[in-house]
Amino acid sequence: MNRNTKNILSWIFLIGLLFLIAAPFDSKILGGNPKEITYSKFIKAVSAGDVKEVNIRNTSSKLTGVLNDGSVFSTITPYDAKMVEKLLDNGVEIKVESGDSGWGYLVSALIQWFPFLLLIGLMIYSARQMQGGGKGGGFGGGAFGIGKSKAKMFQPKKIKITFADVAGIDEAKQELEEIVDFLKAPQKYQRLGGKIPRGMLLVGDPGNGKTLLAKAIAGEAGVPFFSISGSDFVEVFVGVGASRVRDIFETAKKNSPCIIFIDEIDAVGRRRDSGRGGNDEREQTLNQLLVEMDGFDENQGVIVLAATNRADILDPALLRPGRFDRRITVQYPDMNGREKILTVHTKNVPLSPDVDLKTVARGTPGFSGAELANLVNEAALLAARDDKLSVAMKDFELAKDKVIMGAERKSMSMTDEEKRNTAYHEAGHALIALLVPQCDPIHKVTIIPRGGALGMVVRLPEKDKVSVTKTELLSNIRVSLGGRAAEEIFFGQDNITTGASSDLKQATDVAKKMVIKWGMSDKIGLRTFYDSADGYYLDASDQISQNTSETIDSEVKAIIEAAYAEVKGMITKHKKKLERMALSLLEHETLTGDEVKRIFEGKKLKRAAPIEDDLDDFKLGGLPTSDEE
Ligand code: ADP
Ligand code: ZN
Repeated sequence: MNRNTKNILSWIFLIGLLFLIAAPFDSKILGGNPKEITYSKFIKAVSAGDVKEVNIRNTSSKLTGVLNDGSVFSTITPYDAKMVEKLLDNGVEIKVESGDSGWGYLVSALIQWFPFLLLIGLMIYSARQMQGGGKGGGFGGGAFGIGKSKAKMFQPKKIKITFADVAGIDEAKQELEEIVDFLKAPQKYQRLGGKIPRGMLLVGDPGNGKTLLAKAIAGEAGVPFFSISGSDFVEVFVGVGASRVRDIFETAKKNSPCIIFIDEIDAVGRRRDSGRGGNDEREQTLNQLLVEMDGFDENQGVIVLAATNRADILDPALLRPGRFDRRITVQYPDMNGREKILTVHTKNVPLSPDVDLKTVARGTPGFSGAELANLVNEAALLAARDDKLSVAMKDFELAKDKVIMGAERKSMSMTDEEKRNTAYHEAGHALIALLVPQCDPIHKVTIIPRGGALGMVVRLPEKDKVSVTKTELLSNIRVSLGGRAAEEIFFGQDNITTGASSDLKQATDVAKKMVIKWGMSDKIGLRTFYDSADGYYLDASDQISQNTSETIDSEVKAIIEAAYAEVKGMITKHKKKLERMALSLLEHETLTGDEVKRIFEGKKLKRAAPIEDDLDDFKLGGLPTSDEE
């Protein structure tokens, strides 16, 4: 049965059901089309004794009835006080219906049954979705039941990725090399009785190559690769996820040796018993996963790799020996790693002689592998757009702004007032960034809207960071507050804008973590109330006293209030400088870190060449301080 026929059939079914529900309320529907007759004819028929029964509706002047020969009729009646008497005298059966018409019943029945119908519709819809998923999964052949897995299967021939494509994360690569050996010749390991772990957990932030690594193992070993995301297991219907797990393991065993890759395993593998009311479906799925992990033996040749960036929230049962008992950390690449990743991704990109990947790597602290790949791609697109034959350093420079800040939205029109507000706001951030200690240097300040932001100040770390000092955190809070403070000082309390909402969120976030995560508040002391699974406080009722929780709140508030007061003081003191920055921003729209500094020092702006040509300060990385609309 193809999809269309099924669709039509289910509609017919639904409509049929509707009529079944509604029909008993409307005799007309069952009785066929009544023949319309005049009132006098009707009275004559009554007197002649031809009428068997009539249906009178209270609110209607229309009346229907059945003749002795079984035919159905209807007529419009005038006000006739004697009619009922006449009918009774002639032995006509009288049926009186209440005021609602048949179609009224139909409508009310519809409303009454609507939720039920909706449910049926939804069930049909999601059953179909699931079947669609199974088909897309490409396990090939056969009927697809509801529980069929959504996994994608890659045959060895199709996997072109090898370890050569994975750069800059050598430690992780080394650890995984023995897996390749095992998959290539499982018998060798079986013979000596050595045990290869069957489950491995790849831990690291998105975009650092976890999927790439898993695929490379399959590519190197020449075995099939099954890939599924943890979120594919989480379904509305209890039991579906579990049956998908069963299904994928079954298929994998048939295709062994092979690799199962479960991305985002935290979607199913979250700690159970977190006291927030269980999720039956997820727990069943997780249990099934545990059962499957235990159910095949080491040397069956199935290796399960799972990826997550939240290993800390996984259910401990998942991490027990025999399950995902090996953990491989996939970290952000360091400078060397970044250069190697750039090299891999520029393999097929013609580069101008002026391109120095080391310089690009040095300027991209905090970039993930995926962001670097994106950077190369954007640079190549820019060069192609200008009909160039190779990608130049300038293209990397422009691409970097796009990757860090998002694409420019020249089309967005701002009023002059909004522009002015944004200029003072951004100048506020910039001024504070120049004044506070241990602050990442400014890369660019712009009032050109990009992505979701009206303007932004991009600051870049000078080198890879491992930890952050308290001074630095406080400086970041101050910079975040600089925008709102400038608005308030220049335009007054009544004219502050909504432009600071993401700034305030950022400031609050840092302050909160200082208090409950990093032990940086004297009143709270060296205690932590941070629960990584939920982001913030531990379950307040049993872990934190009322008193402590109030202290936390007041400490967070105190940090921010002190910072805001200080920031307002700094802006008031340097009001002239801030104003000059804002005016330059209104004139040029984008200023480099150097230019901002020159303005601060009272020097003139040198604007001979467009700033894009200025490559001395090639730097990338870090997160922009951006302002939402
Ligand atoms: P994750 O699974 O950790 O989220 P992916 O493996 O999906 O990350 O990475 C996305 C893309 O980023 C890859 O397809 C690849 O192009 C690029 N990439 C990430 N890490 C690396 C790396 N170490 N070497 C080369 N390319 C990488
Ligand atoms: Zn801001």
